[in-house]
Amino acid sequence: MLASQMTPRMAAPSCQPQPAGAQLRANTFQSGRKMAVRARKGLKASPGKLCISAAAATMVESKPKTDLTLIPGGKGKAVRMNKGDTIKIINTHGTQVVDFWAFSTEEWGKEIMSMHHTRNALQKSTPQAGDKLYTASMKPIMTFLEQTGPGCHDTTAAACSYGLYVLQIGEEAAKEHDSCTNNLYNGLKELGMELTEDPRYGYYTPAPFNLWMNVADKPDTSGYIWVMPPSEQKAGDYCIFRAEQDLVAAMSACPWDLGNMNGPGGKPMDCHFQVFGA
Ligand SMILES: [Zn+2]
Repeated sequence: MLASQMTPRMAAPSCQPQPAGAQLRANTFQSGRKMAVRARKGLKASPGKLCISAAAATMVESKPKTDLTLIPGGKGKAVRMNKGDTIKIINTHGTQVVDFWAFSTEEWGKEIMSMHHTRNALQKSTPQAGDKLYTASMKPIMTFLEQTGPGCHDTTAAACSYGLYVLQIGEEAAKEHDSCTNNLYNGLKELGMELTEDPRYGYYTPAPFNLWMNVADKPDTSGYIWVMPPSEQKAGDYCIFRAEQDLVAAMSACPWDLGNMNGPGGKPMDCHFQVFGA
């Protein structure tokens, strides 16, 4: 998660439509040089939206293929799924951003869930329940079946990385800091999987679908990315996705703790997931 512009506190849920021009100015953190940033409340999906499919709920509750599995706060996990399986990702405490990826195992390293291709295919910035998620070849790799809560998600921010933390807190501190990028590769390694190495950049890291990351849709002409704390999510809110190919799904409970993107105090919190059979 990239979250270089965040507000330390917000007085009102940011998923609620706000008056045009409503802004806050805040200092997020300091790393040698002060970064004064402005944060603006943005417009996201319909507040209070609850997307439930009774048929899908019945399906996912009937055939568990894994136990309810912990994603420790600030850490990551990956899991294999067969075509037709569903995965329920749970925001256990309601405040956590989860980076989410999917990689086809039939065409490993080639068929990868792609946020910019998904935006093109859907003609929208943020997928919601009912939407398919696409690879670069425009093949559906997952379907977003259900969600509870207001549906604040993001497709624009890159996964946080060692390099990003170097920019923010310096090399020494960054060495001790977890990142979603490392969590992704560690999760894949636990399954014996690895992505193709790019000699220019190290490993290629696709942009994740940033679940529950509250980013304004329409930043002003300053060009800043407006990242706000989670607003109306509740403990236990979840998203459910169906695999449209055999794949590996990976998740990272983002360790970003340099602002309150992950809620008041910015402390990364545990999340959970469970996979169900078709
Ligand atoms: Zn992150």
